[in-house]
Amino acid sequence: MGIERRKSRQVDLGGVAIGGDAPVSIQSMTTTKTADINATLQQIASLVATGVDVVRVAVPHWDDAEALVAIAAKSTVPVVADIHFQWKYAMAALEAGVQGLRINPGNIKYHDKVRLIAREAKARGVPIRIGVNAGSLDPDIYTKYGGATPEALVESAQRELAYFEEVDFSDVKISVKASNVPLMVEAYRQLSEVTDHPLHLGVTEAGPPPAGLVKATAGIATLLLEGIGDTIRYSLTADPVEEARAGRQLLEALGLRERKTVDLIACPSCGRAEVDVIRVAKEAEEALAGRNLPIQVAVMGCVVNGPGEARSADLGIAAGNGRGHLFVRGQMIRVVPEADMVAALVEEAERLVAEGAEARIAAADVGAVEEAERNRVALLVDQGDDPNAVGQRVELIRKLT
Ligand code: SF4
Repeated sequence: MGIERRKSRQVDLGGVAIGGDAPVSIQSMTTTKTADINATLQQIASLVATGVDVVRVAVPHWDDAEALVAIAAKSTVPVVADIHFQWKYAMAALEAGVQGLRINPGNIKYHDKVRLIAREAKARGVPIRIGVNAGSLDPDIYTKYGGATPEALVESAQRELAYFEEVDFSDVKISVKASNVPLMVEAYRQLSEVTDHPLHLGVTEAGPPPAGLVKATAGIATLLLEGIGDTIRYSLTADPVEEARAGRQLLEALGLRERKTVDLIACPSCGRAEVDVIRVAKEAEEALAGRNLPIQVAVMGCVVNGPGEARSADLGIAAGNGRGHLFVRGQMIRVVPEADMVAALVEEAERLVAEGAEARIAAADVGAVEEAERNRVALLVDQGDDPNAVGQRVELIRKLT
């Protein structure tokens, strides 16, 4: 089940294609002082290790602009300079060799300077993002629409785009971010109807996780599922590594990027659970993190329903009778002591990726299927077929209504 993506033109951002048929790319922004070259490069390295394709850095002072020479040269992913107010910093950033620029139409007032930046960017083959933000709209557009409406955000982007078109510059990406999710979603929908430039998605100032993650995902995922969006950034009040991780996880979950990391699924737990599923899932998540195992792994609370419910997972483990039951694509392969569940899961995940599912099923321990069945039946006898007392609850509800 693929997502049919909007057809956008493609721009080249320092070797990363954005738009067209390029995969949706992941961006994040450093939180270091850009002038601190070592700290900034270290943070960029952490972001790259987490899977970002592009990094943006703030340029609020001259020494930040000067530091871009070293940062742009040493970063292993393209660097975008984020420019507000000071057109001269945009020119300095281009001179420093950055691979991209982001400018905010709401706060570079001199239109001749915007054209000047566009001419220089064109000469250097550097794309620019028009980054409209609901919180800093041009005052006249804000007044015209009586606030930051979707139409106002789109008009601001189109106005800026017109300056670029005057100097025949078209390597442009656009964002129309807002912290209000419905507003942001509608603005991007409208923008996608009036331009074919690639779109950079984001919910601005989403806040700290978990609420920030929920808001950003609500906005970005809604649009991606509609085929809108060519590059994304989670704006979280958190370590930017969390932004990068969230971006990658979202794209992998939507099937828009090839899976590189474990997709851990786990049952929500219920009265049948034979272990603390939350604890085991957390331990498994931590143990599997950073191993680059592109498989789906399931942690299930009971062997009665777990293997069946998670039969589409590449690998899973289900608890019962003090044992952990490992299964590959729903087929039982090993039974281990409950205390060894996580260690056995990690070991099997490594072997599964190295050897393949069929080989691991063929190498199943003798007697694993039978032992799992005995434990399953024992649990059924012990718990009965209604451990959550659904029958009693339904009776109670009937009496109350
Ligand atoms: Fe988890 Fe078993 Fe309950 Fe399903 S029935 S939610 S697998 S404990």
